[in-house]
Amino acid sequence: MKQITTSQELRSYRDTCTGSVGFVPTMGALHEGHISLVKKSVAENDTTIVSIFVNPTQFLPGEDLDAYPRKIAADIKICELAGVDCLFMPTTDAVYTREEPAICAPKIKGYILEGYHRPGHFDGVLQVVLKLLNLTRPTRAYFGKKDAQQLYLIQNMVRTLFLTTEIVPCDIVREKDGLALSSRNVYLSPEERERALLLSKSLKRATKMIIEGERDAEKIKTQMRKILSPTAIEYIEIVDRDFNRLDEIEIDNTIILVAAKVGTTRLIDNMWV
Ligand code: AMP
Repeated sequence: MKQITTSQELRSYRDTCTGSVGFVPTMGALHEGHISLVKKSVAENDTTIVSIFVNPTQFLPGEDLDAYPRKIAADIKICELAGVDCLFMPTTDAVYTREEPAICAPKIKGYILEGYHRPGHFDGVLQVVLKLLNLTRPTRAYFGKKDAQQLYLIQNMVRTLFLTTEIVPCDIVREKDGLALSSRNVYLSPEERERALLLSKSLKRATKMIIEGERDAEKIKTQMRKILSPTAIEYIEIVDRDFNRLDEIEIDNTIILVAAKVGTTRLIDNMWV
């Protein structure tokens, strides 16, 4: 596996690739969720490039940029074992210069839900993803449905900026008990981890209500709010696949989203219905 730290090296490496290229951007501290994306890319492409970069521009002041878990030695091993061909691990200086054109997330869909609670977060996400897509020029890029709004905004960017990469959505990987895997789960104490389970529990309850015939979004959100009451709820929302708010569930076109703080740890989860 080739390990690269500068953008020039990555460009040169890309020029040597023949056939299809799969790309999996991450912030490291890799877990089974990341690995599922990597395995899909390895299975579907001739070459797989993974990036590990804790992108400072997507963190707001006061967020966990400095504390964000970093496990680089383990990550390298994981990528090697998964069959990654090239691992890009740039420093901040290798990605950003002092003065740059601004990338702004769409004014509405980039500033609701996650974007409302983390204003500017998606500007940073789109900025780094655009740079990484330009460097790797992948045939396919793999993103988790765990970050559903991020996935939507990246698909929107690729479509509206006429990029040629196919964005491949990947299912959420969970622990046996339902907790969605996240690099941030390491922040949770055993007691907090129990409470964190309420996110997936509330989504399971919502799904059960829908299976039983409930279509009223407000009624579903009320039940979820009750389940999530031991957490600090940031939002519970039901949207269609284009992130328009829904009053009525539309089967095969609905995403139920939740964000809540457990202790000081901010968690998100969602269910595609
Ligand atoms: P991150 O390192 O948190 O920026 O995540 C890198 C990629 O992995 C993103 O596309 C995430 O949506 C995806 N991802 C993170 N957690 C999971 C999970 N539990 N299941 C599936 N994909 C995930």
